[in-house]
Amino acid sequence: MFFVSEKAEIIYYRKPETLGGNIIEIKTPRSRVIFDCGRELEGDIFAPPPDVPGLFSEGEPVTAVFITHYHADHAGFIDKIVPGVPVYIGKTAAAIMKAYNGAQGRDYPAGARVTGFLKDGVPIKAGDVTVTPFSCDHSAADSYMLFAEACGERILYTGDFRSTGRKSFPALLKKLPSGVDLLIREGTHEGSDILSETEAALEKRIADELKRREGKPAFVLFSATNTDRLTTLYKAAKRSGRILLTDPVQSLTAAAAGRKFPRPGTPGVYAFTSSGDRRSYSLLKGFEKRLGKKAIAKKSFLMCVRASMGSYLKKLSELTPFEGGALIYSTWEGYASMPQTSDFLALCASLGLETVFLHTSGHADVYAVKALVSRVSPRRVQIVHTPPRSEKTL
Ligand SMILES: [Zn+2]
Ligand SMILES: [Zn+2]
Repeated sequence: MFFVSEKAEIIYYRKPETLGGNIIEIKTPRSRVIFDCGRELEGDIFAPPPDVPGLFSEGEPVTAVFITHYHADHAGFIDKIVPGVPVYIGKTAAAIMKAYNGAQGRDYPAGARVTGFLKDGVPIKAGDVTVTPFSCDHSAADSYMLFAEACGERILYTGDFRSTGRKSFPALLKKLPSGVDLLIREGTHEGSDILSETEAALEKRIADELKRREGKPAFVLFSATNTDRLTTLYKAAKRSGRILLTDPVQSLTAAAAGRKFPRPGTPGVYAFTSSGDRRSYSLLKGFEKRLGKKAIAKKSFLMCVRASMGSYLKKLSELTPFEGGALIYSTWEGYASMPQTSDFLALCASLGLETVFLHTSGHADVYAVKALVSRVSPRRVQIVHTPPRSEKTL
């Protein structure tokens, strides 16, 4: 799909009604600049990247790739970019991606591929295109919007964003340029006028749920790289007098995210491992505060779990009864129907846990979109990242 101005050509390598998988090119007579290199979120996750010569195969050289954030539907093909092409992403985002994968024994992405880091408001030259990143709130830490100035054309690409997180949305709006020629924005909630709940309101609801179940075990299933949600869960656990338990993947991801995020060592946060292998124990070595099953069974806790932890929960349920406890489901509803997750939910139910859906979206609702459009007053708008009409909360 093409949008052609007099000077800069915009190439969309996915249909707009694709849920993520963003790959967008700004092409000028001298430069080829790519925004995001995502895998499609739905469908075959092992599908190869689309045919983009110069990016994923030999061809006219790409000047630079800019990645808004580490979600797979924006960064999933970072390891498929041909060597030698400069790649930019946030420094913390790169550290989180590396820690999250490293904790699971994967070297992804190979470190050499990231050649520079995005910094809020600091422009980067890529041939005759200047790209300025603006830090925004999303369910991934260190996310950016990208503003390109290409042969006199002013193009703002939002990536994924929201107004309901802990980062100030008015402060972002203030920084953004006004009077852009083209706004390429996410449309995850296109067609819905439902306003999203804030992380702060979600924190209160989770705390209330945990208080209501005083003395009963509580578990939470959410994305390990959603560091904002981790903070929400930590605060809710604290408000309800529980400790927060994080496994090696969660602990190391949080440590990579920076000092403000809770990890073992933060008061009230302890590490645990669900698998008894030597590797998992060695990953926890750096954390002073660790608890084994027997000690956990005696505590009032909120435990971060993953769908692969079924047999561990079975063993824990032999040490402390799960009846009356909860499994808080705090991620995209679509995952619940995927085989491993649905098996895990069924197992939790059989152990006596009630599944409670407590989640809020990481994407722009109708308020956020209107406020953004009013601020940047675009001449033209292209909506991308739009699912076929769906009520799912991403
Ligand atoms: Zn996305
Ligand atoms: Zn995202």
